[in-house]
Amino acid sequence: MGTSKFASLKGRIHSFESFSALDGPGIRYVLFFCGCPLRCIFCHNIDMVECLPGTYREYSVSEVINKVERARTYFDRSGGGVTLSGGEPFFQPDFMRELLKEFKQRNIHTVVDTNLYTSAQKIKEISKWVDLFLVGLKHIDSNKHKQLTGQDNFLILENIAYLNFLKKPFWLRYVVIPGITDNKDDIMRLAKFLHHFNYLEWVELLPYHSMGIQKWKSLNKPYALPHVVPPTKKEMDQVKQIFRALNVPVLPEGDVER
Ligand code: SF4
Repeated sequence: MGTSKFASLKGRIHSFESFSALDGPGIRYVLFFCGCPLRCIFCHNIDMVECLPGTYREYSVSEVINKVERARTYFDRSGGGVTLSGGEPFFQPDFMRELLKEFKQRNIHTVVDTNLYTSAQKIKEISKWVDLFLVGLKHIDSNKHKQLTGQDNFLILENIAYLNFLKKPFWLRYVVIPGITDNKDDIMRLAKFLHHFNYLEWVELLPYHSMGIQKWKSLNKPYALPHVVPPTKKEMDQVKQIFRALNVPVLPEGDVER
C-alpha cells in the first residue's frame, strides 16, 4: 500500500461506525463520506451533505485501513465487511476508488451505499472492487424526485440499469414516507421498473423517521416535513405487498414493529 501516485491522497470523512447491522450483510464497518450532490428534504445526515469546515476530518487511505483492520475480527466473523456511505461516496471518487482497491486486496467484503447520481464511467471504474451496491432511490417519478432531492431521477434510473448490465449485485433502498413516497401507482411503477433486473437482490424498505430533525435545527435550516409521522406496520405491509405481487424480493428485515 502507498506506492501509487495516490499515496498522498486524502479523503474527507465525517465519521466512522464500527459496528453497524443496518448497512449491508453482516456486521459492517461504515465510513461516512462528506459531501453529496443531492439535497433531500428529509435527509437524516444533513450534517454530512455540505462538508462544512469542522464537520469532517481528512484521512489518508492508510489511516482508514489501519482503523478498519483493528475492527476486522468483528465483521469477518459475521460475514460482514466495510460499507462506504455518507453523504455520497461518489462525491470523492478518487479516494473511494483507492480505498476499495485496498479493501479488496485484503479480501474485505465491500459495499457502496450510494444515490448513483454520478457518471457511468465512474461506476465502471470502481465496480470491480465492489461486492454489493446499496442504491438509495428517492422516487420513481422524476418530478416528485426533483421536489424531494433537487434533481430529476433520469441519470439515477439509467445507472441502476447500468449496474445490472455490469452484473453487479445491488439492493434498492427506498424510504417509505406516508403521503409522499407510498402512493400505490408510484410503487407499482417502481416495482415494474425493478422487476426485470437479474442482479437486484433485494428491495430494502426503510420506514421514514424524523430523527434527523435535530441536525437541521442545529444548522438553522428549516425542516420541510415537520408534521409527517413514520409509517405504520400496516402501511409498510401495503407497500411490501405491491412489490411481492410482481415477484420483486423485499428484504424481511425491512419489517417494522410499531
Ligand atoms: S442522497 Fe442521502 S445524504 Fe444525500 S441529501 Fe439525500 S438523504 Fe442526504
